[in-house]
Amino acid sequence: MTATDAFIGLGSNMADPASQLAGAVARLAALPQTELLAQSAFYSSKPVGPQNQPDFVNGALWLRTELTPLELLDQLQSIEKAHGRERVQHWGPRTLDLDLLLYGNETIASARLTVPHAELANRDFVLQPLLDLDPERVLPDGRSLAGLRQQCPDNNLQKLNPVAREPFPPG
Ligand code: AMP
Repeated sequence: MTATDAFIGLGSNMADPASQLAGAVARLAALPQTELLAQSAFYSSKPVGPQNQPDFVNGALWLRTELTPLELLDQLQSIEKAHGRERVQHWGPRTLDLDLLLYGNETIASARLTVPHAELANRDFVLQPLLDLDPERVLPDGRSLAGLRQQCPDNNLQKLNPVAREPFPPG
């Protein structure tokens, strides 16, 4: 079975977001038939939608996997569940959100799965972690991540210090 490079987006704004992400990274690294190739920095960002909720922490992972896209989605959803994710409000606070951002060079449009992820092009907190991992990457439709990053809305992205998980001092 051939392995495919897959990129996963991670986000959280509840219950100590940076540790939610760290826990998810450990679980994703332990997935069957899957190797963790690289992890982006973590970033804080302003929420999309309702503003009366905490800032998010976001990051991305580069996996090489023999799982199919739907098998991978099942795994992501069971990890979200294990982190006690509750969906109270659309675009509202969440303990852990895992998205399949890219799966090789595939375009998928099915009931459960849209790949590349539908909002990828509009979100700096998705594009920047992906660019950390693979600055040269191009979407299946030919658009480059770098080009999309220049055009997308600003969510006040701030790179977090890997130890303190707080914004780096300016300069
Ligand atoms: P959300 O909680 O907003 O991330 O949405 C979760 C729903 O999006 C689930 O029902 C998934 O089946 C669906 N979905 C569609 N495409 C994707 C994707 N690329 N990654 C994760 N979930 C997806």
